Amino acid sequence: MDNALVELLNETCVDMVHLLANSEAENIIIDGVVEENPVKLTPYLKKLILKYESIAKQFLPTPQEAQTNGTATPFEEGKKTSLVYGLERVYRDRVLLTPHFDCPAYCRFCYKKSRVMRNRRSMTYDEIDQALAEIRKMEDVRGALITGGDPFMDSSKLFYMLDRLIALGNIHEIRIGTRMLLNSPHVFTDAICDQLADYIRPDFHNPSKSKYLAINVHFNHPDELQPEVLQACHKLSSRGITLRNQTVLLKGINDDAQTMKRLFHLLLRNNIIVYYMNHCMPVAGSDHLRTTVQKGIDIYKELCTESSCSIPHYVFAPSGGKVHVGPDSNYRTSIVNGIKMLNVRLLYKANEFRRITRKDLPPLHIETRDGFINGNYIDGND
Ligand code: SF4
Repeated sequence: MDNALVELLNETCVDMVHLLANSEAENIIIDGVVEENPVKLTPYLKKLILKYESIAKQFLPTPQEAQTNGTATPFEEGKKTSLVYGLERVYRDRVLLTPHFDCPAYCRFCYKKSRVMRNRRSMTYDEIDQALAEIRKMEDVRGALITGGDPFMDSSKLFYMLDRLIALGNIHEIRIGTRMLLNSPHVFTDAICDQLADYIRPDFHNPSKSKYLAINVHFNHPDELQPEVLQACHKLSSRGITLRNQTVLLKGINDDAQTMKRLFHLLLRNNIIVYYMNHCMPVAGSDHLRTTVQKGIDIYKELCTESSCSIPHYVFAPSGGKVHVGPDSNYRTSIVNGIKMLNVRLLYKANEFRRITRKDLPPLHIETRDGFINGNYIDGND
């Protein structure tokens, strides 16, 4: 990037974005895009985006965001019902808790950038107590994913939730989803890492009673694995906290087998489990970052020639739940209102989905004759 950008390090994010525009017309389009989906960066990220195009493309808006087939809340449509604000259940064995809906930075491919999502208030302490009381009653639930927004936006609230969650008899597997290791690795002080490690509670005499805490991290490109970032990861993993990486497949950023292999090898060598490669969701304004599912399969075939340790699960997520993709998967497609859709049969039966989520099937999903769910997923373009 050029020197002018470097001088703008202390200016507002939007000024940085305008410098990247090629014309006044583009500036006007970007103003409209940012009005809908603001730009937000941490000081650490600001430095990285000046050096790495692969990171800049994930956080800075472009005029292409104005044209889209996506929606503001693609995955949320399937999980709007909850007895308590911030508690969701989409799957049989685990619940989702969202103490914060906001993030320290907005990734352009994520639905959390939209006002619809980020303007939601945080859970109150009372609501956390109520959510935990509900989870206690869910007999077939054994795990909780604390997600976001970013749970590390308020560590006090996170630890309040963890203290109570770990005390529940039915909860044994706690995971925290965060991108804070990239956004602000300095958050992970020794004290915070010690406190997190305290939730790993093995019971060697009665292993079914053991409890563990893992962190789902999110890295999309080898450029993100900076020394400060890896040091923060090491502080966690060296204390026994499992780190699992979730990568999003992004057009023009990591949509080639060589980049993915490089990323996964680096993760592996740095004690981070290669976990998911997610197809980019049909989020409003992310069409320019979305490949087809097939492009992901082509990349996946190459990944599958490697050691299993560096092969993630490849998934895409219609509103009704995740679909696991194999190297030989192929899908029926159809064109609905000019948009290419993949038609997939989901793993849950419709009645179980309704029972768990307390809601009817999401839009673009129907019940099949044998009681399963058939979902439609908006494909990307190559
Ligand atoms: S990917 Fe994570 S950090 Fe980025 S906007 Fe979404 S929830 Fe926030």
